[in-house]
Amino acid sequence: MTEDRTEALLARLAQVLPQRALMIGDAVDPRYQEDRRNRPSARPPFVLRPGSTAEVAAGVAACNAFGQPLVVQGGRTGLSGAHRIWAGEAVLSLERMTAVEPVQPGATTVLAEAGAPLQRVQEAALAADQIFGVDIGARGTATIGGNIATNAGGIRVLRYGMFRAQVAGLEAVLADGTILSALKDVEKDNCGYDLNQLFIGSEGTLGIVTRARLRLHPRPVIEANAFVALPTIEAALVLLTRLRAAVGSTLSAFEIMLPGAYHGVTKHLGLTPPLATAAPAYVLAEIQAPAGAAEAEEIFMASLVAAMEEGLALDAVVSQSPREFQALWDLRDGCPEYVRSLQHVASGDISVPTARIADFLHESQAALRAIDPETAFHVFGHLGDGNLHYVFQTPQKEPAMARLLQLVSDYGGSISAEHGIGVDKKPFLHLSRSPAQIATMRLLKTALDPQMILNRGRIFDMPAAG
Ligand SMILES: Cc1cc2nc3c(=O)[nH]c(=O)nc-3n(C[C@H](O)[C@H](O)[C@H](O)COP(=O)(O)OP(=O)(O)OC[C@H]3O[C@@H](n4cnc5c(N)ncnc54)[C@H](O)[C@@H]3O)c2cc1C
Repeated sequence: MTEDRTEALLARLAQVLPQRALMIGDAVDPRYQEDRRNRPSARPPFVLRPGSTAEVAAGVAACNAFGQPLVVQGGRTGLSGAHRIWAGEAVLSLERMTAVEPVQPGATTVLAEAGAPLQRVQEAALAADQIFGVDIGARGTATIGGNIATNAGGIRVLRYGMFRAQVAGLEAVLADGTILSALKDVEKDNCGYDLNQLFIGSEGTLGIVTRARLRLHPRPVIEANAFVALPTIEAALVLLTRLRAAVGSTLSAFEIMLPGAYHGVTKHLGLTPPLATAAPAYVLAEIQAPAGAAEAEEIFMASLVAAMEEGLALDAVVSQSPREFQALWDLRDGCPEYVRSLQHVASGDISVPTARIADFLHESQAALRAIDPETAFHVFGHLGDGNLHYVFQTPQKEPAMARLLQLVSDYGGSISAEHGIGVDKKPFLHLSRSPAQIATMRLLKTALDPQMILNRGRIFDMPAAG
């Protein structure tokens, strides 16, 4: 935009928004350029900081009228680069919309503004003696809007599903300022298209999520976890099947760490490893059971003992207190921080059909070692739902990542299980979506954001005009 047009837009914004909703020029704080992957982000000419849905609508409508591109930002913990700023893009931050309504007596949902950190929703649920089903390591900073825009998953997808499953209602603002509000507290509502679904996982490209009504779950009375060393990855999958059969849906997490991640994170955090046994795979398994299901814990323990006796598991430690329970989770939660400390690190957030994960891990490790025999693996992730944080170290990151993602596609998996496509995975979208699917995404983008002002160039590019 020319300087004159930017000035005219800023004058318009100053008319429709209160002063505190607008940050301009030198006043723009460097925090909007933060990126978890430390990649460069341009300085935005201004930042919109609306305090209400009406202010979002007014700000966006003005930007739309001037063709001003906007980047939508929540907590900037995203790992695909969608919130990173390109030259000329302004920021729309939800940081002032953080309200979480107290849960009403008897209610099984909570209403939250999009800028509320996930942890605030978890706390509101606990205050009503319920729980929220999604938990991720970035819970203190990642926002509900960002969670919805990336369809966040996390450690308990096995039991409660991804973020999509938690959204009972949603409010969003389109690029022209139209407000779509569907926040009714009803479980059944089938009146034509479910437009809410469009915004879940669309990475801010179709609209701005402003509020959401989120489902809550009964608070588990019994929680237990165990850390298990396995002789093979195949054995980890057999243990998963056994535990599922034994404790059913009370199995709430089944997380894997390969030796590189396990030894690396314990050393990085300065912890004593929970198990000294050397093994090719380690698993953190958890159950959550409601009152009246006391036998679930006994069955869980008995299944682990049986696995050890049969040689299916090499060693296991079961937490004996809330402190030990948390210590096992701290180990798992520390993995992202640990891998961030490594040099020459590449990371793919991928999923593969669970039954094929062992073959995939063997073949992919051999394929990456064929590119660089020194490749070191620090893989961890949500084995229970087939999602791996496939982290590895090599100076040959680009050919290795291209090979890995091609293999994911060959195995019928997804090149982005949780973090979206953003900018970083855009060159690989064709490995998980067909030309017809990408063309349909473009049609939706054109229909809802014809001026392409919202998160332009994220997920996919539009074909050049003419
Ligand atoms: C330590 C760590 C652990 C993590 N663990 C997990 C995990 O287990 N599972 C998982 O799924 N992810 C995980 N993530 C990734 C990240 O936390 C999620 O993607 C999160 O949902 C992003 O939320 P955010 O508020 O930080 O969004 P941002 O990073 O600010 O934005 C992410 C995307 O959402 C869009 N967006 C943000 N707010 C809105 C809104 N209100 N309306 C429309 N679009 C919006 C942005 O434009 C961008 O496209 C982890 C990240 C870290 C750093």
